Amino acid sequence: MSSREISESIVRQSLKSVFGFDHFRGAQEAIVQTVLGGDDALVLMPTGGGKSLCYQLPAVVLDGCAIVVSPLIALMHDQVSALEALGVAANFLNSSQGREEQTEVESALAADRLKLLYVAPERLTTPHFLSLLDPLYERGKISLFAIDEAHCVSQWGHEFREEYLALEMLGTRFANVTRIALTATADPATRVEIRERLGLQEAREFVSSFDRPNIHYSVAERRGEKQQLLAFLQSHEGEAGIVYCISRKRVEETAAWLVTEGFTALAYHAGLDQSVRRKNQDRFLREDGVIMVATIAFGMGIDKPDVRFVAHLDLPKTIENYYQETGRAGRDGDPAFAWMVYGLADVVKQMHFIEGSEAPDAFKTLQRDRLDRLLALAETTECRRRTLLDYFGETQQIGYRCMACDNCNDPPESIDAKREAQMFLSAVARTDQRFGVAYIIDVLRGADTERVRNRGHASLSVYGIGKAHPDTFWRAIARQLIARGAIFSDRNDYNAVKMTEAARAFLRGEETFTLRAESIHTERAAQRGASPKSKVDKQKNDALAALSPDAQARFQQLRSWRSAKAGELSVPAFVIFADSTLRALAERCPQTQDELLQVSGIGQAKAASYGREVLHVLAGSSR
Ligand code: ADP
Ligand code: ZN
Repeated sequence: MSSREISESIVRQSLKSVFGFDHFRGAQEAIVQTVLGGDDALVLMPTGGGKSLCYQLPAVVLDGCAIVVSPLIALMHDQVSALEALGVAANFLNSSQGREEQTEVESALAADRLKLLYVAPERLTTPHFLSLLDPLYERGKISLFAIDEAHCVSQWGHEFREEYLALEMLGTRFANVTRIALTATADPATRVEIRERLGLQEAREFVSSFDRPNIHYSVAERRGEKQQLLAFLQSHEGEAGIVYCISRKRVEETAAWLVTEGFTALAYHAGLDQSVRRKNQDRFLREDGVIMVATIAFGMGIDKPDVRFVAHLDLPKTIENYYQETGRAGRDGDPAFAWMVYGLADVVKQMHFIEGSEAPDAFKTLQRDRLDRLLALAETTECRRRTLLDYFGETQQIGYRCMACDNCNDPPESIDAKREAQMFLSAVARTDQRFGVAYIIDVLRGADTERVRNRGHASLSVYGIGKAHPDTFWRAIARQLIARGAIFSDRNDYNAVKMTEAARAFLRGEETFTLRAESIHTERAAQRGASPKSKVDKQKNDALAALSPDAQARFQQLRSWRSAKAGELSVPAFVIFADSTLRALAERCPQTQDELLQVSGIGQAKAASYGREVLHVLAGSSR
């Protein structure tokens, strides 16, 4: 079917009959319409936002085959299994397949038997693959190009993949084919880079909020991390989660220790044998309630929707990393927890890492900046979510409280530092916004250095007014001012501190400004996972409590059935049904195929493949 003939009703019908969903989420509908209308799209949506549907639905209803560029083999595999379970003709081409299997997929493509084909970027631009696409293109049988994880094209990003750069040619070589690029990376600079490097200047941009309302955030200072972690894990018994550590050694020690504590914990890092890594990853995906202790080698492409918590035993590198890593929790929209402990040692380690690297100076500056912003998030007494969203340019109103982070639920002891923030900003102003943080602090603390003397700054009114506080105190002030968008260090001007429009409110003392009185807060924080006051905790209780005891029993039976089925088919459990679908089944207890189809998450194909068994489980359990 050509795009012009596709009516809204066909789109809605496929949403239900193929994907089993009753409604679009957020911007999905507008994105689908854009793609169907033949316009390119750049989609920025947080993890779990529902990006796949944005190209899968158009691929299903359009004529021809959609080519999906995806950087990870594991991810392709799961996506294709999930599509097959929906009855959609999909496949992938990658190096995990033998020659024969690849030839088979290639013939299916040439014979128009596929609706979606997943390929790695390096393959897409090979002469061989292009020679397969050219005849398809001439016959008008390429429905669209979807470029997943599009931030991999960003050269300064942490997941840069050189092969992505070559994808720019798609826009010229296959000029008539619609392209849709998708990413969960929110950094505005990355956005610009994606457009430029993929030749997507004309693409319509869809930016969703990066808020993940179902994730609860908490950060504490490290004080006996094992006890802290145990206390946290105790409130997550039987749930799947990831524990991130900075080094391989720490991964192995932590995993081994958790096993002695009675948890099902596995290790994952790049130093492990490929087969061990694969086995552990498979167990994490397929079994219920496995804890994966891992370095960041474990991450992108872990599409498991029911990860209930992500714990950081070490500080990530940037807020962006923190956001991505914690974002692996709760993709299914159910309550999930992001928990972190950190210490000064982490900071020192990272500083050394940055200073000792061979990277160009401009890059180091960027890294230092990013570390500062991350520390500001760790140390803030404000709502963590507010600080996180601020970083991505989503400014919340003054006094915003999410009620689902440690600072909102259990406000930390803090000291009012409004006056000191004013002092810092006046020092920046009096020195004409021409100096870096270290120099500003020198002036505030009345340092008797040659630089200060030569510039005549010893005679300023702000000179020495901050003597009472140590350097670290002033750095914390600077970090928080940066984090709250009042100042930034200007990369194009030797890192001079510049004030923004937002600085005024701080200068005039209109904004609250507090620093954490660390010790008091963290002792308490260490005792708990999340406070019972938390909105996310409450949701979690509600989701379970909402089920009657009978329904809860049915839910457990459905879960065991799903687990057995997943084992039998060698697919992750979520490929069969999401938790939310099982809950809906347990609650409504459908008795016929028609009633089954009313349940969100069940389309034609799933009703056909699993319907009888599900009805059988439900019939058996109600008696
Ligand atoms: P992303 O790729 O953005 O991380 P996914 O495409 O994996 O997100 O979708 C996340 C989850 O949301 C999946 O379990 C998916 O089935 C579900 N989902 C997507 N769109 C909808 C919708 N319109 N209604 C209900 N569930 C949806
Ligand atoms: Zn909050």
